[in-house]
Amino acid sequence: MTKTLFEKIIARELPATVVYEDDVVMAFRDINPQAPTHILIIPKKPIPRIAEAKPEDSQILGHLMLKAAEVAETLGLKKGGYRLVFNNGPDAGEAVPHLHCHILGGRHMNWPPG
Ligand code: AMP
Repeated sequence: MTKTLFEKIIARELPATVVYEDDVVMAFRDINPQAPTHILIIPKKPIPRIAEAKPEDSQILGHLMLKAAEVAETLGLKKGGYRLVFNNGPDAGEAVPHLHCHILGGRHMNWPPG
């Protein structure tokens, strides 16, 4: 099976500015930032999207969320706040079929989202 863009980043076949990595997740800067700080945090396991996650992925997903908060704090976003976004499927604008959480911060964000 062909690798997704993000599997290629995990394998270091494509460059990325990695801000955090462990055995389970990797966090790197989005190539087209939508906020002063825009990070993607992804599981190393190729789960396509949250709708395809299985009960056995619970630990990975919990770890990903906790690390998202840790990365946000490390990058100075805790005080001002930040937004975590998972785009799931075409209506949400999902472009890469490898589960990823956007960490967006450094500016005020509107609600509802566009
Ligand atoms: P989504 O629309 O939720 O699937 O988000 C995909 C994100 O991946 C977008 O915000 C893109 O800007 C980002 N992206 C695409 N290619 C790369 C890349 N090579 N390195 C970093 N981010 C990327």
